[in-house]
Amino acid sequence: MHRVSPADSREIDAKIRTKSKLGTIERQAPLDSKFRFDVDGRYVDVRVSILPLGKGQSIVCRLLDQSSNLLKLDDLEMPEDIRACLRHIIAMPQGLLLVTGPTGSGKTTTLYGLLQQLNTPERKIITAEDPIEFRVAGISQAQTNPRLPFSLALKAMLRQDPDVILVGEIRDSETAKLANQAALTGHLVLSTLHTNSAPLTLTRLVDIGADPNIMAAAMGGYMAQRLVRRLCPLCRVPQPMNEYVAKQMLKVEVPQEKIDAVSTIYEWNPNGCDSCRKGWVGRTAVFELIMPTAEVKLAVEEANLRALERAARLQNQYRTLAHDAMLCVLNGVTSIEEAVAVTGDMSFEG
Ligand SMILES: [Zn+2]
Repeated sequence: MHRVSPADSREIDAKIRTKSKLGTIERQAPLDSKFRFDVDGRYVDVRVSILPLGKGQSIVCRLLDQSSNLLKLDDLEMPEDIRACLRHIIAMPQGLLLVTGPTGSGKTTTLYGLLQQLNTPERKIITAEDPIEFRVAGISQAQTNPRLPFSLALKAMLRQDPDVILVGEIRDSETAKLANQAALTGHLVLSTLHTNSAPLTLTRLVDIGADPNIMAAAMGGYMAQRLVRRLCPLCRVPQPMNEYVAKQMLKVEVPQEKIDAVSTIYEWNPNGCDSCRKGWVGRTAVFELIMPTAEVKLAVEEANLRALERAARLQNQYRTLAHDAMLCVLNGVTSIEEAVAVTGDMSFEG
């Protein structure tokens, strides 16, 4: 963090306001805008948010590097079995794929990865987003606003005969119905939903008024994800596998033989080293994915959460978020504390 003099601070304020075409006069109302600059030939978008305070103001600039975040599905870091299933889902001509998780769980990165994989000249792809975080050549991206909510955008998009539709988020009954309907009529539909786990997608959709029969027929896949911090490989602290850790792992159904195969796991080094930030280097995602098998579709049709969980367990790629996070611990990617902190409350849900 750098401290700057009041004079510099005034200059920075003026520069940000000029670049993002905000007046320098308005000091009472919150302001939102954006601007773009280029570094070494690549674009960086900056989203600017200004909040007037009692004294002075709070200015937040969020950097969106237009090239670094746009990885294709094949380049995203994820377990191979999950990637293979996602590839299978997006190879289908129709179906609804829902990615769930709280804000900041990496859903956008996954969805753009899928879009990038699908982005070929013969496919028409339309999105409705709030906000448009990354602009992608070859894709028609609409920004929702009070006069263009997701439901209305989706209706308008369907009249444009797309092959692939991305709806930023399903949060009301009408959008849920339209998304399922679109997925039944020859469109691959990608969207997100706010819920805690992949099975709970069922509960949430039924709660907001979607028809379980249509959901079952339209289902492409239900996925949940979270981000866990990644241990710095240079300064992480080795620790022998012990009974307590093994017990935690068995609790979330990690197979005994996978636990037995590992003798060392790693702990976080709070001091860090020269090549990391306090012992951590970025984050990686953990996943939970349910595929639309016959048993799963039957459970969805009956809106039966327990039956859905049982049917999901029969699938090779299915493991809970907590289980997937434990695999990251076994691989030395993250620590047991981090895995439990991010996904621990998931394992004993309802
Ligand atoms: Zn380090």
